[in-house]
Amino acid sequence: MLFDYHTHTARCKHASGRMADYVLAARKAGLDEMGFSDHLPYPKGESPYNMAPEELPLYVDEVLDLRAQNPDLPIRLAVEADYFPECEEELAAQIARAPFDYVIGSVHYQKVTKAREQRILTDADFWDWPIDSPDPADQEEWLRHEVNEVWREYLHQMRLCAASGLFHIIGHADLPKKFGNTPHGDFTAEYRETARAFAAAGVVVELNTSGLRQKVAEIYPSMPFLRELRAAGVGITLGSDAHKPEQVGAFFGQAVEWARRAGYGELMRFEAPGRFRPQAI
Ligand code: ZN
Ligand code: FE
Ligand code: FE
Ligand code: ZN
Repeated sequence: MLFDYHTHTARCKHASGRMADYVLAARKAGLDEMGFSDHLPYPKGESPYNMAPEELPLYVDEVLDLRAQNPDLPIRLAVEADYFPECEEELAAQIARAPFDYVIGSVHYQKVTKAREQRILTDADFWDWPIDSPDPADQEEWLRHEVNEVWREYLHQMRLCAASGLFHIIGHADLPKKFGNTPHGDFTAEYRETARAFAAAGVVVELNTSGLRQKVAEIYPSMPFLRELRAAGVGITLGSDAHKPEQVGAFFGQAVEWARRAGYGELMRFEAPGRFRPQAI
């Protein structure tokens, strides 16, 4: 009994394929359930990676149509939101526009400075760096930062994301490793603090298999992080983060093995809007 709760659509401008083909792919992969979770409109204006605000009602209609056409395959209506602490009100307003079954909270950006000299900085000196963007200019930004500092700030943002109460699932909880920028030394204390914050917030964390398609070639989150999640009592679920139909349900056998290796005997399955229940694996 497997399910994929993290899939995208062409509406976010960097995924491809017809939505009906994602559903067919879920059937082909033998899934029992799926959810569409395309990128919610960006809370800070235009973005090349998110659906436009006017696309949201069309997206919702298409998911609900596919649900009606596939009575034997539960199809959940969801979105993946870009979390920023300064945008909680805007995100809440966007999320309130449709009857979502669940919302994935993700952090894809880190606030960094453009200033290279030592002086007092103002808001205008900062920009939101997309840490998971393969664009050369964004990759170059990695050279300006100490990897562990990016990690500490990322995990801090993850804790704020969970504590916001806006989200049910936490997306790719250790995304900074995507291009191989793994933390140096022992991050157990940071993982533990983050796992406890997730437990306190009552969120579920996804095992996101898209990391296996990237340079890091590893599921999100890593085994040391996942063991801390297990110790803190945080539930986990499954997502492929498919941006093409053929990626739906990809590597789920490995994900189940990953979960078991960390000591998990169950995955969280959708039960009712905003609610998940454990299912044995
Ligand atoms: Zn995407
Ligand atoms: Fe994401
Ligand atoms: Fe995604
Ligand atoms: Zn994602």
